[in-house]
Amino acid sequence: MKLIIGYLYGDLMNIYGDTGNITALKKRAEWRGIDVEVKIKNQKSKIKKGECDLYFFGGGQDQAQELVARDLVVSSKGKSIKSEIERGVPLLSVCGGYQLLGDYYKPHKGPKLIGVGLFPVYTEASYDRMIGNIVVESMFGNLVGFENHSGKTYLKKGAIPLGMVTSGFGNNGKDRSEGCIYKNAIGCYMHGSLLPKNPKLADWLLKKALEVKYSKDVDLEPLDDSLELQTHNIAVKKFG
Ligand code: GLN
Repeated sequence: MKLIIGYLYGDLMNIYGDTGNITALKKRAEWRGIDVEVKIKNQKSKIKKGECDLYFFGGGQDQAQELVARDLVVSSKGKSIKSEIERGVPLLSVCGGYQLLGDYYKPHKGPKLIGVGLFPVYTEASYDRMIGNIVVESMFGNLVGFENHSGKTYLKKGAIPLGMVTSGFGNNGKDRSEGCIYKNAIGCYMHGSLLPKNPKLADWLLKKALEVKYSKDVDLEPLDDSLELQTHNIAVKKFG
């Protein structure tokens, strides 16, 4: 089997170490004998239906977000991403990427950045910097990560949070929600990188990608995750 990972704006939205998520997905697939190709989808790229089997959209600062928000509309990549998610293609987005997949992101300066409207959420920059380790109770069990954002994200009616914060800020530091999940697409504030320390979530993304691509149930062969789980458990113990 082969997996093609679409790395959305990997040239611009990559300043919080989120590229580690691409590495984790690639290695966890290759350790199971699955070939992986990573395609960076930048401002010059198009997104064709069925071209990529899994998308990743990392974090970035307001300046990069402004460029990317405009390109998502002008190049219609936003529309293409939405239709890919509607047919079940999995996606992981973190922080700045997550914010641009909601209804809008209002930065400190300048106009509102219109989002893709994939997640029923909206984000407004605040004067609180939400930085630190975060632990979230979710359908994947505990998730651990590191957050660094000023944007506060609010869930609209019908939005499903990825989970509830047991320590840290999450979406907005008020309602204890963290992230959002819609079909097989996930938005969250967990940098870290997220996936190396949360192997269950990494494998869920790989499994969904393979099942949609090959239209069959896929059971991934278990890996020796002792090191990953050791790091995960230390983080939960220390910060949970
Ligand atoms: N600029 C956005 C914020 O501060 C996103 C930051 C990020 O991607 N870490 O909320």
